[in-house]
Amino acid sequence: MKVYLVGAGPGDPELITVKGKKLLEEADLIVYAGSLVNPGLLEYAKPEAVKVDSAPRTLEEIVEIMVEYARAGKVVVRLQTGDPALYGAVEEQKRALKAYGVELEWVPGVSSFLGAAARLGYELTVPDGTQTVILSRVAGRTPVPEKENLEALAKIGSTLVLFLSVDKIDEVVAEISRVRAFDTPVAVVYKATFPEEKIITGTLADIAQKVKEEKINKTALIFVGEFLNPPPTRSKLYAPDFTHGGRRESD
Ligand code: SAH
Repeated sequence: MKVYLVGAGPGDPELITVKGKKLLEEADLIVYAGSLVNPGLLEYAKPEAVKVDSAPRTLEEIVEIMVEYARAGKVVVRLQTGDPALYGAVEEQKRALKAYGVELEWVPGVSSFLGAAARLGYELTVPDGTQTVILSRVAGRTPVPEKENLEALAKIGSTLVLFLSVDKIDEVVAEISRVRAFDTPVAVVYKATFPEEKIITGTLADIAQKVKEEKINKTALIFVGEFLNPPPTRSKLYAPDFTHGGRRESD
């Protein structure tokens, strides 16, 4: 018995994978995260499919209904925003389902940070800039280990992407500003790839003010780093003098 754990992508219903869409078309039961998943995705479902919003329900309730359908031999899809492997509260669902002998089969999705990067139109890794991307968050109801505090992460100087943190933009700016210059570029992307998308750009000095003016306090990502202001150097990959007749595959 299994449940398909499908990444819905960042928002735009065309940004789900082909496999994910096929499963939505076949599903008898779709349990979706109503607060974040674009309802447009549910239009791929058959008319008789049962659709359940997980947002107002407890873990036990969600698991119970998925187990009931899986036991009856139905196609069950658990649809989660972006990619389930990031901030998806999947482990607890996995354990609870396993207790009933139900396995998860994962279908990845385009994470919102990649959807947002596409809308920003910038590469997160830049030659002569940074070759590292840190994905993190500030503590909310879920704590963040002390060694991963924002100041320590920001000090590295790499591209920083923060999930679940825009409601604490003042705290974010204050911590990063201890170790990064005030003119460090910052972008906030609200509801990336949704029709309501908003992109706000600025620096550590003014981003908090701008975000508050736009009244953005959820469903947004914070991008920090010089990748938003890349140096004009080019990558070696397509350079004319770079190992012609068999470009290096590892780069
Ligand atoms: N698994 C998801 C993240 C879930 S946590 C993923 O891979 O994207 C929920 C957080 O993700 C939100 O608080 C917000 O920070 C971010 N998020 C999800 N969808 C978003 C979108 N379309 N635009 C901007 N941020 C988004």
